[in-house]
Amino acid sequence: MSQEVEHVECLIIGSGPAGYTAAIYAARADLKPVMYTGMEPGGQLTQTTEVDNFPGYPAGITGPEMMEDFRKQAERFGTDIRFGYVSSVDFSSLPHKVVVDEIKTITADTVIISTGATAKWLGLPSEQKYNGFGVSACAVCDGFFFKGQDVAIVGAGDTAAEEATYLAKLCKKVYMLVRRDEFRASKAMVHRVMNTPNIEVIYNTETKEILGNGKNVTAVKVVNNQTGAETDIPVEGFFVAIGHKPNTDIFKGWLDMDDTGYLKTVPGSTLTNVEGVFASGDVQDSYYRQAVTAAGSGCMAALDAERYLAAKEHDVKVVS
Ligand SMILES: Cc1cc2nc3c(=O)[nH]c(=O)nc-3n(C[C@H](O)[C@H](O)[C@H](O)COP(=O)(O)OP(=O)(O)OC[C@H]3O[C@@H](n4cnc5c(N)ncnc54)[C@H](O)[C@@H]3O)c2cc1C
Repeated sequence: MSQEVEHVECLIIGSGPAGYTAAIYAARADLKPVMYTGMEPGGQLTQTTEVDNFPGYPAGITGPEMMEDFRKQAERFGTDIRFGYVSSVDFSSLPHKVVVDEIKTITADTVIISTGATAKWLGLPSEQKYNGFGVSACAVCDGFFFKGQDVAIVGAGDTAAEEATYLAKLCKKVYMLVRRDEFRASKAMVHRVMNTPNIEVIYNTETKEILGNGKNVTAVKVVNNQTGAETDIPVEGFFVAIGHKPNTDIFKGWLDMDDTGYLKTVPGSTLTNVEGVFASGDVQDSYYRQAVTAAGSGCMAALDAERYLAAKEHDVKVVS
């Protein structure tokens, strides 16, 4: 089969808040961006119902509607948005080579990576059924909806501990379900949890099922993995905080990453260790993980790409 090769000035990988914001800025700077959406056009927010914390939507908006607005705005300035996933990259020389859907090769002067991260779930059918209706993977995003109510959170690491204390400020009671007889979190975070009166830690506990009335979560069925005893804990919200996986497998060997696979960028910028390759959004941020921070860094990536191209045109070396 003959291989089709296309050259673009600016290639954007991923269509979440970071990718679309990069597209809006890149298109307005006349970089004629081409975007590949990946298998989840619109990104993580398409999995959620209400988004209440993105500025500019005073009445709130659903995740899918908001991402539709992002798409329209990116298209308005001429972004070429295509459905497809990047299957491999070759950043060994300029221009960069990117393979889409394992067949099509694109060469690009600049590449903006906005492939996001995927929340890890327990894998229970009831978790999927009530996702967005009491089940959430983001306490900062959804904790507010459970103000004054009882919730459970599963996880034992630093993020789980931080999210539990965040929820404790909003909710009446937080049950923290820990699989082993100890935390994985740092001593300081465990200390914070232990000193929060409305958090009850339940050790040696696994989630068996999330119970509901067909519309909303009403309880969580847990099992003690030492005794086998099952208990139903009445809660309105169930938070999963067992980690995220950044979508970076295809960049292994090319880009610097931390121990958990998040892309490393030069602090205060979106520059990676490879010239002309920029990273924005959750793929390079394991800490904030919000739509607005992803969008902000998408803007930075487009500006970094535009300035990189301008400097190259005038033969100025960009030093990171
Ligand atoms: C259930 C849920 C509710 C949330 N609620 C809120 C909220 O209320 N407020 C808030 O601020 N944040 C919320 N968040 C967090 C928010 O969704 C993320 O911080 C944000 O979406 C990150 O944006 P991003 O652009 O970096 O990546 P993502 O949204 O993760 O998008 C990644 C994109 O990359 C694409 N992609 C991945 N791999 C490839 C590939 N190989 N080739 C091409 N494309 C690829 C995917 O298809 C996707 O389009 C929520 C998250 C979840 C899971």
